[in-house]
Amino acid sequence: MIPHRIFCIGRNYHEHIKELASAPSQLESPKEPVVFMKPVPSLVPPGEVLRLPPYGRELHHEAEVVVLIGREGKGLHEEQAGSYIAGITLGLDLTLRDVQNELKSKGLPWELCKAFDQSAPIGEFLPYGKGSMIDLRNIPIKCTVNGALRQNGNSRDMIFPIKTLISYLSKRWILKPGDLIYTGTPSGVGPLRSGDKITIGNEQVGEFSWVIN
Ligand code: ZN
Repeated sequence: MIPHRIFCIGRNYHEHIKELASAPSQLESPKEPVVFMKPVPSLVPPGEVLRLPPYGRELHHEAEVVVLIGREGKGLHEEQAGSYIAGITLGLDLTLRDVQNELKSKGLPWELCKAFDQSAPIGEFLPYGKGSMIDLRNIPIKCTVNGALRQNGNSRDMIFPIKTLISYLSKRWILKPGDLIYTGTPSGVGPLRSGDKITIGNEQVGEFSWVIN
């Protein structure tokens, strides 16, 4: 299926909100999902070399569950949402953290820190449908860098679970086949440097790796 749009969700795990907070006022959980987008050309299949962006000093990995939407949907209830999913995989929402902090402090939009070239490495989709072995509320998320475990999360800890996110988005956009949803990162985000090999995966979807040039 040809990717149509890339929705991304920010601040969807308490432990990740905590690790990024630099003041007590930033510890609060969002009342509604935090939504932003990346351009489709920022997707990178497994194995392709990642080049460090030409600006920014701190490139962070954010390993996330990624949902593929399989059919058009509008105004969906949570109970219907599962039947609109065509596949599940893991992906990386690569983020220039120093640039993000500066943009946040000025109240500016996030494209420079989130939507740069190659900012969305993505694994291969495991089909999802009736009889699927995947439990949307129990998807492990593992991320290693040069073999060292950096992130070890699970979709059960999402503040807004996958079906809630699909319902929320479908009430604001008409979801289309090929829409992708990066569902937010658990804790353990950290920097990537030239020469690093990053691997994300779990037993169900498999493992996917990229090398940083
Ligand atoms: Zn993210």
